[in-house]
Amino acid sequence: MSKHPNQSNGPFHPVSAPDFLPLPQLQRLQLQRLQNIVRRAYDHVELFRRRMDERGLKPADLQALDDLAQLPFTDKGDLRDTYPFGLFASPMKDIVRLHASSGTTGKPIVVAYTGADLNVWSSVMERAFAVCGLHESDVIQNAYGYGLFTGGLGAHYGAERLGATVIPISGGNTDRQIMVMRDFGVTAVCCTPSYFLHMLDRASELGVDLRGLPLRAGVFGAEPWTTAMRVRIEEMAGIRAFDIYGLSEIIGPGVAIECECQNGLHIFEDHFYPEIIDPETGAPLPDGVEGELVLTTLSKQAMPMIRYRTRDITALIPGTCPCGRTLRRMQRISRRSDDMLIIRGVNVFPSQVESVLLEMEGTLPHYRIILTREHGLDQLEVQVEVTAHMFSDRVGALETLHDELADAMERVLQLRTRITLVEPRTIPRSEGKSQRVIDRRSS
Ligand SMILES: [Zn+2]
Repeated sequence: MSKHPNQSNGPFHPVSAPDFLPLPQLQRLQLQRLQNIVRRAYDHVELFRRRMDERGLKPADLQALDDLAQLPFTDKGDLRDTYPFGLFASPMKDIVRLHASSGTTGKPIVVAYTGADLNVWSSVMERAFAVCGLHESDVIQNAYGYGLFTGGLGAHYGAERLGATVIPISGGNTDRQIMVMRDFGVTAVCCTPSYFLHMLDRASELGVDLRGLPLRAGVFGAEPWTTAMRVRIEEMAGIRAFDIYGLSEIIGPGVAIECECQNGLHIFEDHFYPEIIDPETGAPLPDGVEGELVLTTLSKQAMPMIRYRTRDITALIPGTCPCGRTLRRMQRISRRSDDMLIIRGVNVFPSQVESVLLEMEGTLPHYRIILTREHGLDQLEVQVEVTAHMFSDRVGALETLHDELADAMERVLQLRTRITLVEPRTIPRSEGKSQRVIDRRSS
């Protein structure tokens, strides 16, 4: 007797074959691709050629994967400085798609794809879905934004290539999202974790229990989230929540994905070569040591990225995964070096605040971090929603929760934090990437 296909992950999907390449074969392929891509960047991207020449390096000097460490880094500033098309390695006639990511200030970052690049992108996204146990029988609600943002179309083409039924609903209109999820027999959803939390809230207001629907998987990414947040989401929705990683500068979503073991994200290393460096010195760090993730695209034609500094903090996990994939894993990214807040000289990451909040009974996974300056001194305030039950309870319980949170925060952050408990649904919800930090110190 066979189970319904959506209740079982079954055997490995045929598209997963490259995930299991024997290591020597994978490394040969990586070196060959790396040599080609460095040659391509050198021949067609002026900025890269100039930096190589300044170091007295030629593409032919790259004889082993370790030699990559001698090559210059690329960073977000390079993309801004060469706006819009300065890092393209293909003529416009060969480029079939442009995407752009909104920078926090000024001009966006523009990225380009040839037909072959789109093919690679669809392929890695298809493989990513397959890693999560999705297949052609699944109905995938794609609530990533469609448009210049890479999330929507990236997930769309991968899911379609898998043969799944894709619902290109894009972000927003939450009531309609819930109606579709219920009426169309959706089995998997893609969006940011914060938007999914918003959907969960709204569903409960509408009296829809997602645990009673066929929904069994969520593929969540485009913003950092903690393991504690994952546990909450899985409990509340009755699904498996998989972390997907990617960035426009490299390709979009589909750089790395969690497998069933949910112990780190497998990087599609046949297309994206990872290194971990010390963010201060730029020196390579060994597996197991936390640092900044640097990625090199091994097959991208229109816009090869050599040693791109992602600002994401992670470590490569030593050893092999029980799932048998030979692709290396990285720890899930819960913080970016860009996210680091310096408060009264203390380094604070929003993920530290999130993990404290989620470990506490009585709070909801909705919070905001507000920074102000009073009498020249930085003040850190954390606003967090508490459950309706908590609010209707006696005042003493709220006071206890408040004091426990303040103590736990001080223990973890080494900083006295002002805690404000607010009623459910008072913190603004996000339909895309959430804005959890409000810094009012400069005003
Ligand atoms: Zn695995």
